[in-house]
Amino acid sequence: MADPRGFITTPRKVAERRPVEERVNDWKEVYPGGPGRALLPIITEQAGRCMDCGIPFCHSGCPLGNLIPEWNDLVWREDWDEALDRLHATNNFPEFTGRLCPAPCETACVVGINRDAVTIKNVEVSIIDKAWDDRQVRPEPPEWLTGKTVAVVGSGPAGLAAAQQLTRAGHTVAVYERDDKPGGLLRYGIPEFKMEKLQVDRRIDQMQREGTVFRTGVQVGDTLTGHQLRDRYDAVVLAIGATVRRDLPVPGRELAGIHQAMEFLPQANRVALGEEVEDQIVATDKDVIIIGGGDTGADCLGTSVRQGARSITQLEIMPNPGTDRPETQPWPTYPMIYRVSSAHEEAGDRVYSISTKEFLGEDGHVSGLRLVEVEMVDGTFEEVEGSERVVPAQLVLFAMGFTGPEQEGLVDQLGVELDERGNVKRDRRYMSSVDGVFVAGDAGRGQSLIVWAIAEGRSAAAGVDAYLSGSTNLPAPIPPNARPLTV
Ligand SMILES: Cc1cc2nc3c(=O)[nH]c(=O)nc-3n(C[C@H](O)[C@H](O)[C@H](O)COP(=O)(O)OP(=O)(O)OC[C@H]3O[C@@H](n4cnc5c(N)ncnc54)[C@H](O)[C@@H]3O)c2cc1C
Ligand code: SF4
Repeated sequence: MADPRGFITTPRKVAERRPVEERVNDWKEVYPGGPGRALLPIITEQAGRCMDCGIPFCHSGCPLGNLIPEWNDLVWREDWDEALDRLHATNNFPEFTGRLCPAPCETACVVGINRDAVTIKNVEVSIIDKAWDDRQVRPEPPEWLTGKTVAVVGSGPAGLAAAQQLTRAGHTVAVYERDDKPGGLLRYGIPEFKMEKLQVDRRIDQMQREGTVFRTGVQVGDTLTGHQLRDRYDAVVLAIGATVRRDLPVPGRELAGIHQAMEFLPQANRVALGEEVEDQIVATDKDVIIIGGGDTGADCLGTSVRQGARSITQLEIMPNPGTDRPETQPWPTYPMIYRVSSAHEEAGDRVYSISTKEFLGEDGHVSGLRLVEVEMVDGTFEEVEGSERVVPAQLVLFAMGFTGPEQEGLVDQLGVELDERGNVKRDRRYMSSVDGVFVAGDAGRGQSLIVWAIAEGRSAAAGVDAYLSGSTNLPAPIPPNARPLTV
């Protein structure tokens, strides 16, 4: 056990972010030198706050089943090598989750019942960042090859996790990606200030050294058809994400200056890394309205700040959830509460219970939005009489989520069945309705989180390994129907 009295004597402490006025002038991560380095002076003491409660609910909160009390104890004892070993036992990419996960483990932490939860996510990122700094993260190539081949389509966290597990199990794995570089939303969705792309690049390098081959710039379903892929490989993993974007078809939608977040963010990410982008959508000197209150909206906000927007407003149709856990979402569930991300500290107004009736325009370009306040009556939104107003906007960004995977092309060609929500249907082994075609991540689960995508990638890899080899020793942290903790 870590410090026996740590949870009583040591208050919860987190790393300080760089001052807002400094960080909005660059694209680097908001912690000085990255979160791991910023946390190093305090993290041993913080890990000591783990009370070794006996039934660690944090394990159930984390879809990967991370061995949290074990590595808390090891960090407290400063046994960093063993801590890294235990961390990698359940998570291929802790530097992604340690930066980006909303940490459902912490809302399930037993200390959190009547005190501040252990800073689990910070311990996680400290272990892995220190390991990279100390050159302790090395390739782990297989000792022998099975002679079986696997194609993974999509290189987001689900595809990467599946590919790494299968390569290490001795299969010959090729990852197909339509973008010019691998990483999925980790690379072109999530901005630098949340996670620098160095983190993705060095994992790809590790994977290549282990034997995984990356074929980028290939839209599978186009030049290479689904049938060709199925013929060439012994198994296929679809990790194509849920990329169909939700739209807002109200009058004026056709005006210029109204874009999807995933049109705006990838361009900004490229430019932040020194690439040139023709006709870039920019927020500079504009009144920006972001429709949607989640992670994607916050990423648009932080990006607009750094591009020099005149004003930024984030609209959310749901009411403000407040800062306290609702009674209906008790410990150990992950409650819907008002959260302040690093981007929210930097600028912008958040407006709740508001709906867009119309986009207004001048000379074919958006100039404003007609808004109305709404309230929930018997499960539906009703307009509040007399609450209409017009706000100026020269750039509108949709961050309203995604409805599922693209069907046209690969999914249609393979003929895989979809579930009632339009996601690719799979059985307990993560196999779709087509023999030898597996599915992992948002493509099967619907829009979700990085930690779930990694857990799905690992689990699908176990399904593929058993299919190819007759049995498997690979871990499968979650069944396909696993869901977050609820009451
Ligand atoms: C802007 C944004 C910010 C987010 N921030 C967070 C966050 O902070 N924390 C968090 O936990 N989650 C976050 N999420 C959610 C998280 O990124 C996703 O849940 C996760 O990336 C899903 O992983 P995936 O591997 O299933 O799919 P993706 O990451 O979407 O990867 C799918 C890949 O498949 C490729 N592909 C699709 N079709 C084909 C084809 N036919 N041929 C070849 N390649 C193909 C795509 O180009 C893409 O690279 C965010 C999402 C967005 C959009
Ligand atoms: S992956 Fe997420 S839920 Fe799991 S330990 Fe890390 S921060 Fe917690």
